[in-house]
Amino acid sequence: MTLEQLDKQYVLQTYARDYTNFVKGVGSTLYDENGRDYIDFASGIGVNSVGHGNEKLTEAICEQAKKIIHISNLQVIEPQARLAERIVNLSGYDMGVFFANSGAEANEGAIKIARKYGETRFENKRYKVITLEHSFHGRTITTVKATGQESFHTPHFSPYPDGFSYEKSIEDVYTAIDDETVAVLIELVQGEGGVQPFGKEEIQKLAAHLKQKEVLLIVDEVQTGVYRTGEFLASNLYEIEPDIITLAKGLGGGVPIGAVMTKHKDVLSVGDHGSTFGGNYLSTSAGLAVLNVLEALYESGALAETLVYFEQKLESVSQKYDNLFEKEVGLGLMRGLRAKSAEIQGNVLKNSLKEGLVVLKAGRNTVRFLPSLTITKSEIDEGFKRFETAINTL
Ligand SMILES: *Cc1c(COP(=O)(O)O)cnc(C)c1O
Repeated sequence: MTLEQLDKQYVLQTYARDYTNFVKGVGSTLYDENGRDYIDFASGIGVNSVGHGNEKLTEAICEQAKKIIHISNLQVIEPQARLAERIVNLSGYDMGVFFANSGAEANEGAIKIARKYGETRFENKRYKVITLEHSFHGRTITTVKATGQESFHTPHFSPYPDGFSYEKSIEDVYTAIDDETVAVLIELVQGEGGVQPFGKEEIQKLAAHLKQKEVLLIVDEVQTGVYRTGEFLASNLYEIEPDIITLAKGLGGGVPIGAVMTKHKDVLSVGDHGSTFGGNYLSTSAGLAVLNVLEALYESGALAETLVYFEQKLESVSQKYDNLFEKEVGLGLMRGLRAKSAEIQGNVLKNSLKEGLVVLKAGRNTVRFLPSLTITKSEIDEGFKRFETAINTL
């Protein structure tokens, strides 16, 4: 059986899969089974924040695995406590952290914190959560319901939990708030929805309004967090202080981990929430190693340089090929090219892979770039060279 046949026979077919068989990665270069190299502008959808085969990360994982991988959360776990401290210190917020295993799970935790807050802090229970159209918050029944895209709410999985509604814009959120609204859940840059950042002023204004209304601001930083936008959190970049923040993708460098942090540290009490795997030795040791690498990259100014370099390259491609692309979108190393049609988007993706470049799609017509934060200038140069070859013939 070929690998493709094996996959199709035994793995439930929930993905429109490509069958390139990657067997190794070094930095931002991937190798398939035939030894062919590909530049990785996707980093496993923003997960491989320190690239492939990073020595500090792989060493931390190996060393920890030899000592102890897992013990239950009924015991104290040293790297978990140290990672929580590290995340809180880097964020600059006075918060407490709960560890989960994925973005959706982190958002579930955020919604639970908000719901209990709404139940215990007000005379009349508040439970409604407002999210935005084109948002993405996960694939569990609750987070899929929180996702503001009708196509996700298929009747196949109904009934969904009550209390979620979607607004077209930040402006519309103001009028949607009523006395049962407990929280507004947003991404500062909508990732899956099309790499669309919100304006700093409109977000600051919303944050101030929510504070005054005692409505919680939950920021889903599953994709934007961990230096993706150039600061540790996009919330830092926007200079706001959310009530609850969620993290996942880049935090473990590929080891599954999610986190929800909040300044309302006493809302959840013993027994309210838990996870078997969340925050175990392996994932939190990986998280610490990732933050060591990325904090140094940030402090040295190298990350800021990479951001500017990548953006300049993208900008020039966007201008040169204005027959294919409307504009460049995004922030930091979370970037996109808005294609003039879904067909162009599809062809760009297909041709890129043929030329040895992995890129992603987002929304209906955006080509998305989520390179590892440790990508080098020569990898960026080579990637854009291949990108131009791929789109030249379109
Ligand atoms: C990827 C993503 C999620 C879901 O994360 P999973 O780890 O796949 O559950 C949630 N929110 C945002 C903003 C994401 O980008």
